Amino acid sequence: MTAKVLDGRALAQARSRELAGQVAAFTARHRVAPGLAAVLVGGDPASKMYVDSKARAAGRVGIRSETFHLAGDTTAGDYLALIDDLNRRDDVHGILPQLPLPPQIDPQAVFERIDPEKDVDGLSPANAGRLALGRPRLIPATPLGILVLIEHAGASVEGAEAVIVGRSNIVGRPTALLLLARNATVTICHSRTADLGAHTRRAGILVSAVGEPRLIRREMVRPGAVVIDVGNSHAGGKLVGDVDFEAVKEVAAAITPVPGGVGPMTIAMLLENTLAAARLQAEGRP
Ligand code: NAP
Repeated sequence: MTAKVLDGRALAQARSRELAGQVAAFTARHRVAPGLAAVLVGGDPASKMYVDSKARAAGRVGIRSETFHLAGDTTAGDYLALIDDLNRRDDVHGILPQLPLPPQIDPQAVFERIDPEKDVDGLSPANAGRLALGRPRLIPATPLGILVLIEHAGASVEGAEAVIVGRSNIVGRPTALLLLARNATVTICHSRTADLGAHTRRAGILVSAVGEPRLIRREMVRPGAVVIDVGNSHAGGKLVGDVDFEAVKEVAAAITPVPGGVGPMTIAMLLENTLAAARLQAEGRP
C-alpha cells in the first residue's frame, strides 16, 4: 500500500478562499475588518518568519493584521501592559503572543491576561478549561488543523483507536481532547511512556507531536493507519518531521508531509479563529 499524501497547503488554500468570503461579509456587516495583533519579542529569525507569514496570510483573506515587535529585554510589566491595551482596543479581535518568550516573561501569565474572547491561540485557562469540559469555544490552531486533516483523509474518528505522541498544552493535550470529544478511544504517549511502539502499533489514527526526527518508524505503524506528523526539526539542513516518511508511507493509508502538512493548516486555522473571535465579540457567538 502507498499512502495518500495529505496536502496541507492545498487544503489550507481551499479553506482560506472560503474564509475570505466570510471575512468580507463580516466586514460589510460591522464596518470593521477582523483584526489580529501579533506580539513578537527579540530577534529570533524563525519567530519573525512565522509572524510575517501569518501577517501575509491574514492580508490575503481580508483580516487586518498588526505586528508589535518588542526588544528582547522587554520587562514582563511592559509586555502585560501592551496586552492590556490590545484587550481594550475594539479593532483588535485576536491577540497572538509569538512563542517562545524570553525567560523574564512567563507565558502562563500572558495567557491568563489575554481576554479569553481575543485568545485566538486557545491557550488561556478559560478556553483550555472549556475544551477540557467538552464545551469548546476558541480551540488551539494546530489541533484544529490536525482534526481537519484527519477528516480530509476520510477517516472515521468515532470508535477509532487514536494515539497521540506528545502531551504539550499547545498540541498533544488539546488534540487528545478534540478526538475524545469525537468519540475516538484516545491514548496519550510522552517521554516516560515505557514501550512507545506497543501503543503506536494499535493506532488507526496516529498523531506525533514531539520534534524528534525518525521517532516513528515503519514497524511502529499499523497498516492502514492515518498518520499526522506535527514535528518540526532540522536534520541535514532540512526541515523534517517525527515520522520516517518514505518508509511509513508504504504502510499507512494517509500521511502528512513535512513541510506542507500540518504547518499551513495551523495558519489557516489561526485565521478562522480570528474571524470566530471577531464574531464572538460583535455578535456574541463564534
Ligand atoms: P513540546 O512542548 O516540547 O512537547 C513535546 C512532547 O513530546 C512532550 O510531551 C514530551 O514528553 C514528548 N516527548 C519527547 N520525547 C519523546 C519521546 N522520545 N517519546 C515520546 N514522547 C516524547 O513540543 P510542542 O510544542 O508540543 O511541539 C511538538 C513538535 O511539533 C515540535 O517539533 C514543534 O516544532 C512542532 N509544532 C509544529 C506546529 C506546526 O504548525 N506544524 C505547531 C506546533 C508545534 P514530556 O511531556 O514527558 O516531556
